[in-house]
Amino acid sequence: MKEYKRHDYREIELYKDVPEEDWNNWKWQLRNVVTDIDTLKKIMPIDESMEQDLEKCLEKFTMAITPYYASIMEKDYPRGVVRLQAVPTINELHVAADDQDDPLHEDVDSPVPGLTHRYPDRVLLLVTHICSMNCRHCTRRRMVGDHDTHLTRESIDKCIDYIREHKEIRDVLLSGGDPFTLTDDSLEYVISKVREIEHVEIIRIGSRTPVVMPQRITDDLCNMLKKYHPIYVNTHFNHPDEITADSKEACERLANAGIQMGNQTVLLRDVNDCPNIMKKLMHELLRIRVKPYYIYQCDLSVGISHFRTSITKGMEIIENLRGHTTGMAVPTFVVDAPGGGGKIPVMPNYLLSQSDRRFALRNYEGVITTYTQPEEVFSNCGRCNICKESDKQYKPLDGVAKLLSGEKLYLEPANLKRRKRD
Ligand SMILES: *Cc1c(COP(=O)(O)O)cnc(C)c1O
Ligand code: SF4
Repeated sequence: MKEYKRHDYREIELYKDVPEEDWNNWKWQLRNVVTDIDTLKKIMPIDESMEQDLEKCLEKFTMAITPYYASIMEKDYPRGVVRLQAVPTINELHVAADDQDDPLHEDVDSPVPGLTHRYPDRVLLLVTHICSMNCRHCTRRRMVGDHDTHLTRESIDKCIDYIREHKEIRDVLLSGGDPFTLTDDSLEYVISKVREIEHVEIIRIGSRTPVVMPQRITDDLCNMLKKYHPIYVNTHFNHPDEITADSKEACERLANAGIQMGNQTVLLRDVNDCPNIMKKLMHELLRIRVKPYYIYQCDLSVGISHFRTSITKGMEIIENLRGHTTGMAVPTFVVDAPGGGGKIPVMPNYLLSQSDRRFALRNYEGVITTYTQPEEVFSNCGRCNICKESDKQYKPLDGVAKLLSGEKLYLEPANLKRRKRD
């Protein structure tokens, strides 16, 4: 099997005397995050006009690059796909007409500070506002003056209370910021409290740490996590160049602790808006035991309009994956709807037409085929124990599913004009 590159950080003047012991210590990495232009200058060449642009950007948005991520950045290539995700460009100051401050309405859907409850059976618990790195394309962009903090114990306890009181929550997603910026002890506090709640079935952690600070994925961390299974970790690789010997080892360490690894990619112009790059990324992810989960359409946060692509680019990428390679390598392409509508999948059409009994379908090669439905197709539903039990608990029949179950014949907007006419 192909070996992944281990970048030699000593090639960077600034880091040439850093002992390996420090380099491999995540606390050292965090302490030495690059936040100012003078330090950045010691890592890559910065000309005068670029420096002026950076100064302007840093008046508005913060910069934070881990030494590790700096060591894998393209030094001499301003349009480098790794570098574009880390080093601000003047484009960030452009406010596009459709930019929004909280496009996903995470604040609006928040019953307790730190917690977003948008879907019926799962919640997002933002355990920290801190990330080791400030990704340039981030939805939750850091503005200068934002105070970067972990959630206080008190706030966390309130979130935990909310989860305890809401029996319909079976899935708790820890995110932030990046939960792996917490110490093992602080993270264990949250995870163990969540695990104590009987109706919580799975715990998921969303973290870009394996990509931007793989040194954090220590044996101690993995040993702590594996006490609380089932635990899932979704990480965030955007380009095959981010898969290095170090990030591979971090993912493998988590996988070896029995943690299912998934990946959420953001579709970014000039970084990964190409079917070939995406296919390579998905293949490489499977090789490091990470299952592609989502590709996100870039959202409408302020200052990231230069990263946005058309939605059709995402569809083209799926068209180039499905069938051409294993379904294991095909994530779901989603648009996170403004206004808190949640993730909406978008994909090419495979169903061409239909009659009472026959479906005309096309495959990835363009072969058009049919499926003929048997005459007897109706399910004998509603008699088994699963339905009987769900009467007591939670009925997963809301929205459009309600139309299909027959509970409702139509859905309509709350303020439909027609209904107000006398
Ligand atoms: C994405 C998201 C989730 C999790 O969605 P899954 O499709 O289950 O991964 C939960 N809550 C919020 C607010 C989200 O944005
Ligand atoms: S790690 Fe995630 S939350 Fe943090 S800056 Fe990057 S994209 Fe944003």
